[in-house]
Amino acid sequence: MKRPSLYFSDEHHLFRQTVRQFIETEVVPHTGEWETNRRIPVAIFRRMGELGYLGLPFSEEFGGVNADFWYSVVFLEELARCGMGGFTTAVSVHQYMAINHIAKAGSAVLKQRFLVPAIAGEKVAALAITEPDTGSDVSAIRTTALRSLAGDEFIINGTKTFISNGTYGDFATLVVKTRPDAGTGGISLLVVDLDSPGITRTKLNKMGWHSSDTAEIRFDDVRVPVNNLIGQENKGFYYLMESLQLERLVAAVMAVSGAQLALDWTLTYLNEREAFGKKIGTFQAIRHKIADVATEIEMARQFVYHTCWLFMQGEVVVKECSMAKLAASEMQKRVVDTCLQFFGGYGYMEDYPIARAYRDVRVGTIAGGTSEIMREIIAKIIIDAVAYKPVYDGVDARL
Ligand SMILES: Cc1cc2nc3c(=O)[nH]c(=O)nc-3n(C[C@H](O)[C@H](O)[C@H](O)COP(=O)(O)OP(=O)(O)OC[C@H]3O[C@@H](n4cnc5c(N)ncnc54)[C@H](O)[C@@H]3O)c2cc1C
Repeated sequence: MKRPSLYFSDEHHLFRQTVRQFIETEVVPHTGEWETNRRIPVAIFRRMGELGYLGLPFSEEFGGVNADFWYSVVFLEELARCGMGGFTTAVSVHQYMAINHIAKAGSAVLKQRFLVPAIAGEKVAALAITEPDTGSDVSAIRTTALRSLAGDEFIINGTKTFISNGTYGDFATLVVKTRPDAGTGGISLLVVDLDSPGITRTKLNKMGWHSSDTAEIRFDDVRVPVNNLIGQENKGFYYLMESLQLERLVAAVMAVSGAQLALDWTLTYLNEREAFGKKIGTFQAIRHKIADVATEIEMARQFVYHTCWLFMQGEVVVKECSMAKLAASEMQKRVVDTCLQFFGGYGYMEDYPIARAYRDVRVGTIAGGTSEIMREIIAKIIIDAVAYKPVYDGVDARL
């Protein structure tokens, strides 16, 4: 039954039903195939493009829907209910972590070449920050993009790793050093076609998130037109720091929904499985744990919704987004572990989705900023009174 909500209207509710049906009929039935192949077919991106799902926050001028952020929240919640962390990641990275930079600060030409086909699901995007020697410390990246003698191209050298959509994706928002000696003031964002000469992609073998492809990408003298620069040269670090709010909020929304899904599977099982002549859902030891799990999920959900609301008001929400990512991803890890326990031996069998959830959930406190880094950010804000200011002056921070 639909309950009154501070945040969601009847239209959002209808949209939820539509997305849920899409996930149940066009995604979930392919779980086995996509997880085994360790790949998502491009056709599903095209289908989501057709349905408008890949352009929810973006302007209609580029094929987007220009919908308020609650539509994105609904979409991400329903997406996570596919029960395949890999698919959820591939889609959310594409829309909310890679192409959002082009929508915000890219030139008109970049928008036509990359944003428009990405919203249509014709091109798949990646965000490439992490390198073999550095992940948490973005300022220490070593991949360089130096101007050619003629000055019309950047020549890129270096290696990125753990890049989602990096193996089969079409292009990347690439984080590079354009002034290698300048620390955070020398970082820029470039759009790079992943089929460019000089690029070598190696698919990585992961513990979970099997349907998402994750790559190491090497750049050897890869030439890219200077016009592929997103926004201003050497401002990339600040663009990234601001967009990481959205990235962390997206991760938090999906973590809460993923935890709820694990609980829903478990509630069904508690009513099916019997031990000692009774449904296992009648044992108090289990019931109390389930009550704890449901409480943890609900507490996290309400804080995440509140942070979404602040974000929609255009507030700088670095503290709340970091808290939301930290609390929701740690909570999801605990919840999935507890839920798996109540499936007994079946919980350890690959035929049961809770086993996949257990593998998938582990990376939640690592990717997109580790829990330790979230705590560092929160501590800096509350102990050292570090303040964050908006970077994209005059540009909608919600994109
Ligand atoms: C499946 C998967 C998909 C990913 N997808 C992408 C992607 O699409 N694009 C992308 O750019 N990256 C991606 N990543 C990379 C991810 O964001 C990084 O792994 C993460 O930021 C941590 O960086 P790291 O692995 O280099 O760990 P490190 O930075 O080497 O950290 C190692 C350990 O030290 C801790 N640590 C580091 N600094 C501190 C500190 N100051 N205080 C306390 N503890 C600290 C960390 O928390 C961690 O526990 C992905 C990773 C995985 C596993």
